Amino acid sequence: MHEECGVFGVYLKDVKANIAQLSYLGLLALQHRGQESAGIAVAGGENILIYRDLGLVTEVFKKDILGTLHGDAAIGHVRYSSAGSNSWEDSQPILHHFSGGSFALAYNGNLVNQSELSSMLAIPYKNSNSCPTDSRLICKLIEATKEKDIEKALEKVAQQLKGAFCLVLLTEKKLIGLRDSYGFHPLVLGKIKDGYVIASEDSAFSIIEAHYLREIQPGEMVVIEKDNFKTKQILPCTKKSLCIFEHVYFARPDSNVFGENVAEIRERIGARLAVEQPADADIVISVPDSGRFAALGYAHQAGITYQEGLMKNPYIGRIFIQPDQALREYSVKIKLSAIASIVTGKKIIMVDDSIVRGTTSRKLVKLLKKSGAKEVHVRISSPPVDFPCKYGIDTPNKKELWTNHFSIEALRKLIEADSLGYISLEGLTGVFQKNKPSDFCTACFSGEYPL
Ligand code: SF4
Repeated sequence: MHEECGVFGVYLKDVKANIAQLSYLGLLALQHRGQESAGIAVAGGENILIYRDLGLVTEVFKKDILGTLHGDAAIGHVRYSSAGSNSWEDSQPILHHFSGGSFALAYNGNLVNQSELSSMLAIPYKNSNSCPTDSRLICKLIEATKEKDIEKALEKVAQQLKGAFCLVLLTEKKLIGLRDSYGFHPLVLGKIKDGYVIASEDSAFSIIEAHYLREIQPGEMVVIEKDNFKTKQILPCTKKSLCIFEHVYFARPDSNVFGENVAEIRERIGARLAVEQPADADIVISVPDSGRFAALGYAHQAGITYQEGLMKNPYIGRIFIQPDQALREYSVKIKLSAIASIVTGKKIIMVDDSIVRGTTSRKLVKLLKKSGAKEVHVRISSPPVDFPCKYGIDTPNKKELWTNHFSIEALRKLIEADSLGYISLEGLTGVFQKNKPSDFCTACFSGEYPL
């Protein structure tokens, strides 16, 4: 499973701060949402400047580049690409022209009616589960409205889009944020000095001393100008479909996603997992980093000591980032190592967030046993992933998802664990306090696609 992309936007009334620097810091905080390209667009009333390239935020933006990007407002983007499409052309934000001037767009999500939209525009349909195809389509749809007013154009276009989309759009004078009517992925609004900030997650706010105001609601468009802040519900929200994987894996633990803190939710998931899937063990360990809070919750609930039995090399990128299988295998080996003095002779519960292909789990169980662990009981803080995502998360296809081929017992044998247990779907959706179970998209577990 790969996270999608991260978007960021900021508008300051009094431009004392360096807008590009703020965007750079915001994108650094969102780096976990995409590590293959980064970009910033700035607008200063007259024109829009964009700088984007392949690489991490720190690799793309050097001091001399940031110093050239001046303006009152900016948007930024970090991107994860689907296999084989990691090119400069696909990095964002992208610049486009329409009847009213120019705009830059940064986008996160996946449309399910790309082919329909492509034929409306009479352009060849390119079947790809990646941001740029969709974002180019949205740009062309905006142009095709022939509207001079960007808000009206976007409002018209939003009615045509089906799927998951969170976007930030920048004109010479306006910053606009828009979230699809199902609210699949998060988009939040914050206050900074005399301006506003928009981001995929509010972990991007504290780093720039902005504070969280609220979520941009499903179907809501916010428009920020120098002396004006407007909000409009442009799409009716008849049913929420919040991506539950944001809480399980994608989002940062310090973020508040869909109104609830990610770390707290992960601890509750772990506690629930301990009730549903107990095991006799000496210690609980996590697969760092995303399994950590669930493991803490498990340990606390079960009354078993939590220890760090696996060490992550912090200088390696996220495991799934390389599209090529051979490289992925290699990166699993170099990314995590077992701490033998902690695991030797112990019965261990290892908590992880998901099993997609199973190769990582198998390697980790082997690693722990080779390092002296007596037993390894694998506990997973999400139900089996049986179905691919259609809403902006890059998942393997159905054939590659191991749980479609094996029973849980067969999977346990394959990963060579002493026991294997998953949290139930009811258990997972039941840990939230501000959202009902029916508010979530759980299609990758249940196959019930909301769209
Ligand atoms: S299918 Fe799964 S990963 Fe995709 S949006 Fe729904 S919950 Fe999230």
